[in-house]
Amino acid sequence: MTRRMLVAGNWKMYKTAAETTRFCDSLKQDLKPAERVDVAVFPPYVGLPAAAASLAGSTIGLGGQNMQAAAEGAFTGEVSANMLLTIGCQYVILGHSERRTLFFETDPVVADKVGAALKAGLTPVFCVGERLEERESGQTQEVISRQMAAVLQSLDQPGKLTVAYEPVWAIGTGKTATPEQAQEVHAAIREQLKSRWGDSGAELKILYGGSVKPGNAESLLSQPDIDGALVGGAALEVESFLAIIEAAEKCIQS
Ligand code: PEP
Repeated sequence: MTRRMLVAGNWKMYKTAAETTRFCDSLKQDLKPAERVDVAVFPPYVGLPAAAASLAGSTIGLGGQNMQAAAEGAFTGEVSANMLLTIGCQYVILGHSERRTLFFETDPVVADKVGAALKAGLTPVFCVGERLEERESGQTQEVISRQMAAVLQSLDQPGKLTVAYEPVWAIGTGKTATPEQAQEVHAAIREQLKSRWGDSGAELKILYGGSVKPGNAESLLSQPDIDGALVGGAALEVESFLAIIEAAEKCIQS
């Protein structure tokens, strides 16, 4: 495999600024240089300056967990792509299932955000995933394909688009998709990217997310179409996050 991997830690609404500094200092100190595995953390907005200061000069990337598509304006409580960029972010998570479910973000809203992030120069980690009832009623591919199409049809070029497949029933539940279930969806996502943009679409990164832990990371990351992990719970402790990064390195070397 020639693609680089990405191991991304979504902290959700955990860690104060002081806790962020402690985590980032320790991650920076303990992370061994990796050849083809990129690492990034996604703290809450208020922790971004502390993370940027701690991670300055390191290879560890930084991202926001959401953003507004508009460049600026009367959007109380929101931040723009440029605000994330100028504070030191390279990435932004968009369309996470918690945003879709709890904050009612629709496919067109997510598509606008992805377009704005790419235009500003951020790498969007664009999340798709089916709910349990959708999987159980055999609608997984249809749901993923619809969520993907909303973004693909709104973009001329893929740029640095990164996709994360996160089955909603596996997020924060301790239930993980089997490596075979995940690979099947990843292969279909890759096919959809390829049919939209040819080889440059097929080369985009597709991460898996949903209860990734040190104990299951290797079996998931060794699948041919899984290019890394979007990690929630296990990204909150340096030790377990590092163990997942090590699993990624092992997989990319084999
Ligand atoms: C996530 O928040 O994107 C996630 C995958 O969480 P967890 O690893 O805790 O399931």
